[in-house]
Amino acid sequence: MRADSSSEPETTNQKLEASSGEIITNSPEETFAFARSLGERLTGGEVFLLKGDLGAGKTVFAKGLAAGLGIASSEVTSPSFTIINEYTGRLRLYHIDLYRLDDGLHDELGLAEILEDRQAVVVIEWAERLGFVPEQATLVELSWLSENQRIIAMS
Ligand code: ADP
Ligand code: MG
Repeated sequence: MRADSSSEPETTNQKLEASSGEIITNSPEETFAFARSLGERLTGGEVFLLKGDLGAGKTVFAKGLAAGLGIASSEVTSPSFTIINEYTGRLRLYHIDLYRLDDGLHDELGLAEILEDRQAVVVIEWAERLGFVPEQATLVELSWLSENQRIIAMS
């Protein structure tokens, strides 16, 4: 992944100008704040597909989105073992982590119904394992740049 389009220094008050593009964050707090600012503007029906290696910041991003929806981020824990966690804030939030999902078990998760919920925001970690791309989805690719820096590419 290239970083040269985001070479300007970023502040902690980054605003998402559009739902596509690339930024570099310099700390977990910046990734959180970026996602929170995004979350504040959601109206329901949005789906975020988070891709990136272990430690890339997917859960930090999901917690930021939650905060933007008025859900206490301390409540938001990695759903690795439960696969789906549901929270209620300004909108419902489904936080899904497919890391441990066995191939072919998607049908049993009730994902189709969740993806149709217009009062909900859906954020999916390890979205590579989904096996399909929901129509309205925003792809968020997080990648490691240095210990405290991540590239966040949205498309
Ligand atoms: P994932 O869910 O992708 O496996 P996590 O969000 O659980 O990753 O963890 C990301 C880790 O990277 C955390 O320990 C966090 O503190 C650290 N980190 C360091 N810099 C950043 C950054 N710029 N953005 C997000 N996380 C960062
Ligand atoms: Mg995670």
